[in-house]
Amino acid sequence: MLRSSSAARWLGGLALVAAAALAGCAADRGPLVLDPTPSPTATATATATPTPTPTPTFDRAQYSIDDPASIWVVVNKLRPLQPAGYVPPDLRVARIAATQDLPMRDATATAAEAMFADAAAAGLPLRLTSAYRSFESQTRINAQLVQQLGQERADIASARPGHSEHQTGFAIDVGPLSGVCDLQACFGETAEGQWLVANAHRYGFMLRYPDGLTAITGYAYEPWHWRYVGVELATELRATGIATLEEFFGLPPAPDYAR
Ligand SMILES: [Zn+2]
Repeated sequence: MLRSSSAARWLGGLALVAAAALAGCAADRGPLVLDPTPSPTATATATATPTPTPTPTFDRAQYSIDDPASIWVVVNKLRPLQPAGYVPPDLRVARIAATQDLPMRDATATAAEAMFADAAAAGLPLRLTSAYRSFESQTRINAQLVQQLGQERADIASARPGHSEHQTGFAIDVGPLSGVCDLQACFGETAEGQWLVANAHRYGFMLRYPDGLTAITGYAYEPWHWRYVGVELATELRATGIATLEEFFGLPPAPDYAR
């Protein structure tokens, strides 16, 4: 779900970056290559970044996927927030670089603060461009987009009011501090975007709208849109290789609104 001001630019750039669509998978590649005469040092290096393994006892019913206040809530085109005018508790502005004061749930803010600090320490400073959006602000954004793009194209880029993950306070839009590729698909190819793909799960974030899964999520590839689900679930998703909440929880695909 992007800001209306950049919608046209983003849609225009989509074709250019289609070829780089697999950026999200790159971080998982790289088989371990052991030295033919391994020394203790070489072994330590080879095992420094273990691949996470699925937790056999992972309880998929531990938190509600229906309650909008739950860190596992699944919101999509077939699963509107209930109530539609839901306002989250404990909203606060995170102490991170941002285009303006943007509130989010306290847990999201705490995780974002750690993630942004570590990205900056790695030489890849990030900037927040969107976080919590109320039903009313989503109504304005969506109406503007429909006017600019028409209903069909607007629906793939932005949620209708009451259907936006941003309304939960668990979703953030992230770009590089430089602003390069902000809210565009090419963000996924930047060093900052790839750092997020490799590391965001360690802070409890997942890429909610991966490339090529519009038929399931209902939205185009959004390398900037990160959803806080907690470290446990984010790590489990990565370990199992399941890319969407819909698939993980056995929910029907949500390519479009119910007629
Ligand atoms: Zn978003």
